[in-house]
Order: sequence, then C-alpha cells, then structure tokens
Amino acid sequence: MPAIPDPTPDPPPPPPALDQLPVADLQRVGPRVQERLARLGIHSVQDLLFHLPVRYQDRGLVVPLTDLRPGAEVQIEGEVGETQISYGGRRSLKVWLTDGTATGEQPIPGGVLLRFFHFSPQQVAALRPGVRLRCYGEVRQGPNSLELVHPEYRLCGADEAPPPAPRLTPIYPSTEGLQQSSWRGLTDQALALLAQHPPGECLPAAVLAGFALPDLGTALDYVHRPPLAASLADLTERRHPAFLRLAFEELVAHQVSLRRLRLAHLRTPAPVLAGDGGLRRRLREVLPFALTPDQEQAAAEIAADLARALPMQRLLQGDVGSGKTVVAALAALQAIESGRQAALMVPTELLSEQHYRGLATWLEPLGVAPVWLTGRHKGRERTALLAAIAAGRAPLVIGTHALIQEEVRFADLGLSIIDEQHRFGVHQRMRLREKGAQEGGAPHQLIMTATPIPRSLAMTLYADLDLSVIAKAPPGRTPIVTVALPDGRREAVIGRVHDACAAGRQAYWVCTLIEESEALQAQAAQETARQLGDCLPGVRVGLVHGRQRAPEREAVMAAFAAAALDLLVATTVIEVGVDVPNASLMIIENPERLGLSQLHQLRGRVGRGARESHCVLLYHAPLSVQARDRLALIRATLDGFRIAEEDLKMRGAGEVLGTRQTGTLEFRVADPLRDQHLTGAAQRAADLILARYPDLVEPLMQRWLGRREVFGVV
Ligand code: ADP
Ligand code: MG
Repeated sequence: MPAIPDPTPDPPPPPPALDQLPVADLQRVGPRVQERLARLGIHSVQDLLFHLPVRYQDRGLVVPLTDLRPGAEVQIEGEVGETQISYGGRRSLKVWLTDGTATGEQPIPGGVLLRFFHFSPQQVAALRPGVRLRCYGEVRQGPNSLELVHPEYRLCGADEAPPPAPRLTPIYPSTEGLQQSSWRGLTDQALALLAQHPPGECLPAAVLAGFALPDLGTALDYVHRPPLAASLADLTERRHPAFLRLAFEELVAHQVSLRRLRLAHLRTPAPVLAGDGGLRRRLREVLPFALTPDQEQAAAEIAADLARALPMQRLLQGDVGSGKTVVAALAALQAIESGRQAALMVPTELLSEQHYRGLATWLEPLGVAPVWLTGRHKGRERTALLAAIAAGRAPLVIGTHALIQEEVRFADLGLSIIDEQHRFGVHQRMRLREKGAQEGGAPHQLIMTATPIPRSLAMTLYADLDLSVIAKAPPGRTPIVTVALPDGRREAVIGRVHDACAAGRQAYWVCTLIEESEALQAQAAQETARQLGDCLPGVRVGLVHGRQRAPEREAVMAAFAAAALDLLVATTVIEVGVDVPNASLMIIENPERLGLSQLHQLRGRVGRGARESHCVLLYHAPLSVQARDRLALIRATLDGFRIAEEDLKMRGAGEVLGTRQTGTLEFRVADPLRDQHLTGAAQRAADLILARYPDLVEPLMQRWLGRREVFGVV
C-alpha cells in the first residue's frame, strides 16, 4: 500500500495588510496611547502612515554655541556648568550649558541658558554639572543671555556623542499627551513594517503608468523621513514629487466620494419639467433688458436639465451683479409651466424681501404671484401661507430658513433654488431637497453663488455638481472707481458724501468691527449714524443693522430704495443682495478688517446704475504690508474671479467658501488651489475607478476619508 504522503503543510499565511494591523500591535502602544491615537482617527498602522508631518527640522548639524542667533531653531551640544532653581518671578530651573567655544564677552562665557518651568526632582538630579547634553529648541533673547525654553534634550555619554540624525526630523500634528518623540517612535515602527509589506495600491496601473511619480511606499518613506539634503522649503510647500503622489491619490479619493454622492442622487427620479415655454416667453417680453449670452447659455443648460427625469444638481456661479436672479426666475417659471411649485431660499430676511418684491414686479403681470415666507410671518397670516403652500396654491415661495421648517409642506415642489450658497450649512440644503422628496422622487436643485472660483477648483470642490458660469456682467455698467484713504481724511470723505447727496445721489456708509458681536456692531453703526447726521444737516440718514427687528429694518430699506433717504449707514448685513441702482457712493470703514471676497461683495452694492460709482476704503493707518497689498488688489480690479483666487490663496478655501465646518474641504496633503493642475487627471482617474475598478473604491475611501463622511454641497 503506497504510503500516504504527509499532507503538504499550509503555506504560511500572508502578512496582514497594513490597514488590518491595529496600532495596538506596535511596541509602546497601550490602551492610553491607543485612545489618544483614536482621537485623531488613527486605528491601523496604515492610518499612522497617512498621518503626515506638518513640518521638519534639520538636526543633521550641531551648531556651536557662539553661532546662536535669536529666532533660530537649532541643535546644540554642551556640558552642564551650573544649575539653579530660581524663585524670582515664576519658579524655574535654570541650566547653563557651555561647549568651550567661549569668547569671553558673553554673560555666560561661551554658553546658553536652558530654562524649564515644569520640572521634576529627577530632572534636577539628572541635569547635574558635568553632564553632557544634546538639545533641540528655539533660541530666544533672555534678560541676560540667549536661552532655550523647554528644549528637547537627551543625555549623551562622556565621550561618544550620539550620531547626528541621518534624516530631517518630522514634526507631527499631535494631540494632548503624545510627544513628538512618541510620534517618531511609532512612525519608525510603522515604516519598518512598510519596508516588509508595501501598502495596497488603490490606483489602477493604467493611471499610475501615466505618471512619473514615486510608488506609494517610497513616497511615504520620503515624507516621514526626508533626507538631510532635501529642501525644507520644498517640503513645507509640499512641492516634492512624493507629496504630489499622495496629493493626487487624495484628490482622486475626494472625487470618487463626491461623484458617488452624485450617482446616488441620480438614482432617485425627478419630475420632468419640460414646460410649454409660455410663461418664460412672456417674462422676456416684460423684462426691460435682453439676456446676455452668458445668461442665455446658463438658462439653456438649466432648461435642458429640468426637462429630464433626473434631479438637476447645478451650481450657477456668477460675480455679484452678474444677473443670476433672472436666470433663476426663468427656471422657476419652467417648473410652474409644468404645474409644479418652485422655492427660493436665501440667507437673510432682507434679501428675501428684495427678491420677493423684485420677482413680484416681474411675475405678477404674467399672473404668477410669489409668496413670501419668513420667520416674521406669525399667527393667522402664517397659517394661511402654509395652507396655500400645502394646497399648491403658491407657485413660487420665496423665503429664508423658514422654508425648511417642519410645518412647511409643499404640494408638489419641483425645483428648489438656493441663493448665496456659501451662507448655508450643508444640512440646510439637504433639508430643502427633502422637502420635495415625496413619492420617491426628488426635486431639481439650482444652487447660486457669488463667490466665483476658478473652474478647476470648482471641479474639485463641487465634483458632485454640474456647473454653469456667468462670466461677464450685463453691459452698460460704468466701472466702480475705488480709492483708499487713511482715516485722517475722514472729514474730506464726509464732504464727498455731502456733495453726492446734494446732487441727488445716494450713498452707503458701512461700519465694520472685528467683534462678532452683533450688539457691538449695531452700537458702532448707531454712533456713526448719529455723528454723520450731525455733520450733514439736510442729508436724510437711515440706519440698518442686524439687531433691528425685521419690520423696522425693512422700512428703512424700503425708504432708501424709494430715495426717501440719502445716506444709509449699515453694518455688513447689507453685504448680500441689496439692489438700489441710484446708490453710487460707498464708504467702507476699516476695510482692512474684511476678507477680499467680502469687500468685493460689499462694493457690489454700488455700480448698478448707469452713473459712475465710487467706493472709498477708509482705512485705519498705518496698514500692515499685507493689508496694503490686499487693498491695492481691490482697487486694481473688479474681477470677482481674480479677487476670489487671491482670497483663497491668503485665507484658504474653507474660510472663503464658508465650508470649513462641513467637512467638504478637509484635505491632508492636497491643496485644491495649489494642486489645480492635478484636478483634471484626478477626475478622470475617479471616473475610471468608479466605472471599471469598483473594488478599489472602499480601500481608497477608508484610507483617505476613514470614518469621516464627505458631504457635497447639497
Ligand atoms: P446677482 O448675480 O448678483 O444676483 P442680480 O440678478 O441681482 O445679480 O442682477 C443685478 C442687476 O442687473 C439687477 O438690477 C438686474 O435687473 C440687472 N440685470 C440682470 N441681467 C441683466 C441684463 N442682461 N441686462 C441688463 N441688466 C441686467
Ligand atoms: Mg443675487
């Protein structure tokens, strides 16, 4: 009988992938460290490797103590000469360090003072005279000598100094209770594991083949431990190909997540709003102007979307004053022609009133009566409005957040329009969408924004939306002339206001404050209105601010619009939407306190008529160099795209677009503005992955987005 061969032993199991290796498997990771890492979303060894340094230090060099300069971050080495616990002022441990490069002129001959405010008895014992130390820290000018406050330090043996670091030293974003040395220890272990088994590749080979970028393992190794020769500037600005490799993958992950969201939206059917064109034709007849080619194009794109059974998700970008409202009105009419309701949600009551009145003027002649719903509608009036909306008797509802309250029910909402998109949180936009989501269908959505951004950036940030752009303003506008004057010239500026008002023109005077407090802002505006009233007898001065009750504020606005007031003193509440063409002069106090986009929006309140308009930036001297540059840019251009781009560079996308809190813009390596050149390729790669490599989607999401959910703007 033939011997039964021994069963072949199972091959050893393959090493677990890095995303399957819990950080707890690393040395020196107990429950406490584990909990701290979890706070940063780090659970696996892979997560740890994708937690990237924010900056680097050069510890390849030991700087002689005579070469120290205040402000420099340095590595030094020396012998403890003397230690002392000082009780004068704040209790501190002082340790004098010398390295024999004495010049004799320094207060501590050839030395530097290490100062510790927190220290243990063990530390005092260890830092005794004669001990050799290697320290790293920032040099400061102390009262009597150069100092390093709380340097990192390490004891070295008497004659063998530890070798200098062979690589640049990374500094990691951290959380309480995790020292940089712990991060380095942890990433050392993770990098060692990385050398044994490379991380899973989330990009298809076809995509990688098109790039001359390092592979993932090499890129990670480089960004965690760059060679000493690497340029610190290149690293900090993340220009090195290793960063590009990671940034590209992150952009792809972001695109995949947003496009997946878009595909999910598209799975819900939407009502076909073809319309017969009747109302739209009649609107064009009553309009006092013809649409510009850009407006026509945007209107046509929207009309085509609405006629399909898929929910439109379209962003209409156009600078302030570019004429987005009429495009929105045409869209609303198309929904109404098709027997459905439309809703227009705006961020402020003031703007909702402006839209309500403006649209009523256009639409009432066509037999379409818009309905206005805000928080101020109470009691019986409100009940009647809600009943009309629920019964489908309100074809177009214009309002604030009041539109998304629980009790508001639409009979058959076909289109929701959101104006000044950046002022809304993502959840508010989703709620409006849900309002129309009866019978398993979703309404179409049109989202409008007056912070125009470069197309490639919009492609990254709004990858779940289609984009229409009104690039050129309607003709016949006279450019606004902008000047900057120091507040020492205030009287002359008041004189200009006087002359303008005497000549029958109207003016805005905008007060700004750094404080977020509306009460303080209102106070400042009140005080300014009083002063200007005193200086300008005969000029009718009105006041609007955020603390007024709506009816009061609206009465003032209406009076200004009807030219019953000459000068409107306001806080930045008038930034959005207000349209009074006869106002041709705007004074902005302390413009240096505002972001560029905000200044541009404010200035857009003038320049709406045929007369030449002026904007005076009345700044508080002296200006910082940066503030001077920013005001110079505002003066030099009226191009909203250019201003937005500069603003994005200075303040970052989250700040400018108001999306920081929503999670839309949290990138780890990529910077959607700086990495614009990668956008097109990232989008193509994302489409390829979704179409042909569905298995890569989850690993990619897990790696870059982890447990975070990324929202689109809707
Ligand atoms: P925004 O894009 O800032 O919302 P609006 O829709 O408020 O701009 O339009 C600004 C002004 O331009 C309004 O007074 C509007 O009636 C006017 N307007 C819009 N389109 C045109 C056009 N094609 N020709 C002339 N004026 C126009
Ligand atoms: Mg508008």
